[in-house]
Amino acid sequence: MQIYNVTMINHHTFFTALWRWRMRRILKCHLIPHHTWQSITKRMPVLRELDAVQMAHLREMTSWFLDQKTINGAQGLDVTLEMKVTVAAQACLLILNLGVEYFDGWIEVLLYPAAFSVNHTEVDSIGVIHNETSVLAGESWLRGPVILSWDNVEQDAYYYKAGHNVVLHEFAHKLDSLNGAMNGMPPLRRGMSRKRWSDTFYEAYGELCLQLRTGESPSINHYAATSPAEFYAVLSEYYFTAPDILKKFSPDVYEQLALFYRQPVSQ
Ligand SMILES: [Zn+2]
Repeated sequence: MQIYNVTMINHHTFFTALWRWRMRRILKCHLIPHHTWQSITKRMPVLRELDAVQMAHLREMTSWFLDQKTINGAQGLDVTLEMKVTVAAQACLLILNLGVEYFDGWIEVLLYPAAFSVNHTEVDSIGVIHNETSVLAGESWLRGPVILSWDNVEQDAYYYKAGHNVVLHEFAHKLDSLNGAMNGMPPLRRGMSRKRWSDTFYEAYGELCLQLRTGESPSINHYAATSPAEFYAVLSEYYFTAPDILKKFSPDVYEQLALFYRQPVSQ
């Protein structure tokens, strides 16, 4: 047993050391230049609560993101460094205190110039095939790319609107899908209770659905009532952009998200 424990520790230490070495190498060669980072991020309201140390950490994680993931343009969109940093900095805000391994399992971000149409085919419970065309600001595929409309990314990044941020929304789906399914429960931190999380979210989700059924005007974006996965993604948008509204809607969900994301948010 003793030998087993020592082996485990050595194994862990080896990978931690390897990871640190790789991160140092990435930051040495690919750290986003200071003036580029400053000029882009100082205009983003969602980052305003971060102090200098947290901003420095976010700059490192954003640099890591740009080295490890690809951000490609669709429909002829020429993706600039400014666009890449705008997407990556907001995506990394979600995992600032979680760690880069929360973005494992996929590599591509696809950027459309504006909202894009998608055609989904679904087979319903009696076997009838439905084709639906929707116009989307973003989409996140299980084990696949994140697809975003630059128009919407830019709007949400630079012009504050409470409860709206397409980048936070789509990358929250990535955290959620890390354990194999989008069901509103990302892999939680050690010490957090899965039961507490699901009870809390289930109750708040039911509350929102009830508000909509009874014709009451919902206290948060009604899109959250689409499914538990959308509920978690939308509430993550509120956590970072309008925590006061989230606290009012459900102090318990706010508490769970604060335990998970563990970072200061703008009030
Ligand atoms: Zn969604």
